[in-house]
Amino acid sequence: MTKDEVRRRLEFYQDLGIKTVYRHSVSVPPTTNNQQLTTVPMPAIPALEPEHDSLLKIIEDIGDCKRCRLHEARNKIVFGSGNEQAKLVFVGEGPGADEDQQGLPFVGRAGQLLTQMIEGTAAKEGIPIKRSDVYICNVVKCRPPENRTPQPDEMEICGQFLYRQLQAIRPKAICVLGGTAAKALLGKDGVTRLRGKWDQWRDIQVMVTYHPSYLLRPYNQNAKKEAWEDLKKVLHYVYD
Ligand code: SF4
Repeated sequence: MTKDEVRRRLEFYQDLGIKTVYRHSVSVPPTTNNQQLTTVPMPAIPALEPEHDSLLKIIEDIGDCKRCRLHEARNKIVFGSGNEQAKLVFVGEGPGADEDQQGLPFVGRAGQLLTQMIEGTAAKEGIPIKRSDVYICNVVKCRPPENRTPQPDEMEICGQFLYRQLQAIRPKAICVLGGTAAKALLGKDGVTRLRGKWDQWRDIQVMVTYHPSYLLRPYNQNAKKEAWEDLKKVLHYVYD
């Protein structure tokens, strides 16, 4: 295995929250001059994301998923939608009630605002894209009851599918919507502190901005302006 493959594998485990890995075997040096180098078996580690992964394969692997407690109250798994070769991917927190009914991400009020933000900003900036040109998904694929924030173990379990989606699409940039998604992808807290600046997930550029549902609250006019500025930066970086 090359150094780069080892690095990728370790990053993948880190993303899954696995902090300790073991080699299949380890060479133990001789303790006396006449002894040979011996190989001692070590516990196996699980496989890296499959070779030649694709969104279809990930959907098949999710299946009728019951890997975390969020399956109990869901109607539909919300995998993601949009252009499978998108240069830009938006990542939100999790499905709401409308999304859970339709099985599609960002179709409620927050979704309509996201569409306006993408298409309105693109039109103003002379960038010829529509919402269907980007890809949109969430950290967790099932609706948390009462729209509560997904819990760390739920994000960790479902996050593996998000990482595989991002690796399969390999966009030029990821726009992270809100603090929960920022925590899941970057391991950092605080949208206000993180927004507007470039960060990285693996080797992909990441911009954090506010979640559209936060922007729908009437007292957040200033945040709206900031979110538009963030989006402008992302669109120019990706499409110029
Ligand atoms: S949230 Fe993700 S891991 Fe949990 S049941 Fe749904 S698809 Fe499976």
